[in-house]
Amino acid sequence: MCNCIGEMNKLLAEHNGQIVETMNLRTGQGYPVIKVEKVNSRSRKSPPLAIPTFCPFCGTKYERE
Ligand SMILES: [Zn+2]
Repeated sequence: MCNCIGEMNKLLAEHNGQIVETMNLRTGQGYPVIKVEKVNSRSRKSPPLAIPTFCPFCGTKYERE
């Protein structure tokens, strides 16, 4: 498992920024958030999470449960 999010956050913190992250509560694995918006803005239903299967920074495959 890579530590790209942590490394990126160190660099981004120097510019007052950080990666938006979601976490698997059972494994503690963090994933960068891919922004998903509603197709139908009138719907009250929230859009689902889109979780990447590979690290977008180094290409390492994220392990699945
Ligand atoms: Zn990585």
